[in-house]
Amino acid sequence: MPALADLLDVQDLDLQLDRLRNERQSLPELERYKELHTELTSTEKLLGIQRDELRQLELDTDKADGELSILESRLEETEKRLFSGGMSARETENLRIQVAQIRAQKGSAEELVLGLLEKLDPARETVGDTERGMEALEAEKTEIETQIKTDWKRIDAEMARKQGRRDEAVAPVPADLVELYEKLRMSKQGVAIAALGHGVCGGCRLSLSAAEQSEVAASDPPRCVHCRRLLVV
Ligand SMILES: [Zn+2]
Repeated sequence: MPALADLLDVQDLDLQLDRLRNERQSLPELERYKELHTELTSTEKLLGIQRDELRQLELDTDKADGELSILESRLEETEKRLFSGGMSARETENLRIQVAQIRAQKGSAEELVLGLLEKLDPARETVGDTERGMEALEAEKTEIETQIKTDWKRIDAEMARKQGRRDEAVAPVPADLVELYEKLRMSKQGVAIAALGHGVCGGCRLSLSAAEQSEVAASDPPRCVHCRRLLVV
């Protein structure tokens, strides 16, 4: 039966197409691409938090700096008034107390500014590190994207070629036989038709007795008595 032999060619091409389809969906780069996407999402979130922290630190530093400047000029003014003299002993004493208070406030303000400045550099470094990390992840993602696109292009071209050959091979096969073939392929792991060689079914690898072989050869279409696959006798 020439139609069955054609169908064997169709199946060979279908199996090759199955493999290509599977290869397309399970490229190792796809797994890494997904990982990178997850890593990038979490790094972006982290970077947002770190940038907010840095911005807040910069604002706090500016504010503390401003407060320190005010205290410095107030101290200068108060000291000038104190040193210019011409006041009563009581006024002088009051000013002396004020100077001491402002000095103490200035001391605390300086400590605050220094403390903030000490935090500023590490915070900037942290943001820089995360930014560089993100750039590296993005570069790898772009590289992998290119790799995936190249692989897909190659696989798609190969599939198109095979599909063309498959269409040619299936053309002479009667429609009802093709329908049976498609149904069997779904239930038999892609193998719907096999050759019978030396009394063994190429699909299920089981032997057929001489009587079974004659029975198969007489039926239309011939099918394995064990696995019910189509058989090319
Ligand atoms: Zn069989």
